[in-house]
Amino acid sequence: MKLKRIQPKIMGVPVSIETAKSLTAASKDIFMRRFVPKDVKKIRMDICKQCPSWSERFNRCTECGCQMKVKAALTSSECPLKKWGRHLHVRDTRIDTSEHKETTE
Ligand code: SF4
Repeated sequence: MKLKRIQPKIMGVPVSIETAKSLTAASKDIFMRRFVPKDVKKIRMDICKQCPSWSERFNRCTECGCQMKVKAALTSSECPLKKWGRHLHVRDTRIDTSEHKETTE
């Protein structure tokens, strides 16, 4: 029989390597001012508010222990249950052809 592993928590935040990694990523986002657009934050918050792991009382996810008003605003944030993911800024690499002249040569 395999015993279920108990994950330690401090003030509702799991203590793990993943927690340390996500806190580091969140700190970088805040330092670099990498925030998602308002509509992306709203979509994330709407998903969270429908989730059984959402704590309305503390505005917190009970899976990761994060304050969601902050976490939902950062680009590298992702849901621990994969209900929403990172927001990547994709550079527009389309070539501007407006100045190209049509030639028949
Ligand atoms: S981050 Fe994910 S698990 Fe946590 S409340 Fe939001 S949707 Fe639920």
